Amino acid sequence: MDDVYEILIVGAGPAGLTAGLYGSRSNLKTVIIEKGLPGGQLLNTEVIEDYTGFEHITGVELAQKMEAHARKFGVEIKTGEEIKSIRRVDGLFEVKTDENTYHSITVIVTAGGTAQKLGVPGEDAYSGRGVSYCAVCDGAFFNGQVITVVGGGDAAVEEANYLTRFGSRIYVAHRRSEFRAQKILQDQLFQNPKVEVIWDTVVEEIKGNAVVNRVVLKNVKTGEIREHPSEGVFIFIGFKPNTYFLDDHPAHDESGHLITNDRMETNIPGLFAAGDLRSQLVRQITNAVGDATIAALAAEKYITHLKHKQSEASA
Ligand SMILES: Cc1cc2nc3c(=O)[nH]c(=O)nc-3n(C[C@H](O)[C@H](O)[C@H](O)COP(=O)(O)OP(=O)(O)OC[C@H]3O[C@@H](n4cnc5c(N)ncnc54)[C@H](O)[C@@H]3O)c2cc1C
Repeated sequence: MDDVYEILIVGAGPAGLTAGLYGSRSNLKTVIIEKGLPGGQLLNTEVIEDYTGFEHITGVELAQKMEAHARKFGVEIKTGEEIKSIRRVDGLFEVKTDENTYHSITVIVTAGGTAQKLGVPGEDAYSGRGVSYCAVCDGAFFNGQVITVVGGGDAAVEEANYLTRFGSRIYVAHRRSEFRAQKILQDQLFQNPKVEVIWDTVVEEIKGNAVVNRVVLKNVKTGEIREHPSEGVFIFIGFKPNTYFLDDHPAHDESGHLITNDRMETNIPGLFAAGDLRSQLVRQITNAVGDATIAALAAEKYITHLKHKQSEASA
């Protein structure tokens, strides 16, 4: 087949664009397929202050720079096409969108994930203006301010602990009367004098002017509703990795993130994973691009090895 790609990348976020850069720079026939526009979560990020070399850059600007850089080396980028299915057929990957069927020797999955939303009034309107789903990304913007954390699992309690280094006061609103989080994380939280847990409570609405200044809380046992001052609202009620199109079901952890080795290989030969959808400790731009660098160069080695074996067999 003439039109077989050597590397096909799912998603054009920071990981996908970086894999595209390294793939095309290695002279491999490389394509990125993106269901929206290039940039991924960068397009939802106002300002970035922790990507090395850029003290202050908007998400949109960084996305444009990453896209232009990847294109410089000749990567093909197809936008507005959602991948619906990927499976291994006769030693190649068959990749389907509603519009096309592609074939590739390797696939690098960099489709990120989606943070679960509360679905309350004000959440979307104030996203990036007080509402956040990432403590490492946005915590520093709330120095000396009051923060409300929503959730009760490991992520919520761990990130609430992390946010105590910035916020003057951290309220943790949880809909139940106990946390699901590991005990060690809970102990840390309860010992911190800056923290107050508001049990049996859900957020009904997020309010403010130009930015958030209060949340409306409802006690689910008594029905009492009250307004509570808060400049930051950090929501940690779940994060779903985008792996729904992987028909061969590669190994994943209990939250659905793909498990790889240190070459970013999944347990399916030729299928690599990088960025937010990979099982790992932190999800940041720096490590997404690091993963993707490894994945693309490991894919290059995989292809070279495969071609070598094929030429030996046919000799
Ligand atoms: C509001 C916010 C602020 C953040 N701020 C920072 C920060 O300041 N610093 C920092 O380091 N990190 C920050 N992060 C985290 C950072 O954005 C992510 O770690 C990073 O974007 C991960 O890159 P990725 O390429 O793995 O995934 P993503 O950026 O999520 O990109 C995945 C891409 O895959 C596409 N895709 C998904 N499914 C399909 C499909 N089926 N077919 C085709 N395409 C598909 C998506 O449309 C998307 O473009 C922030 C995140 C958010 C949400």
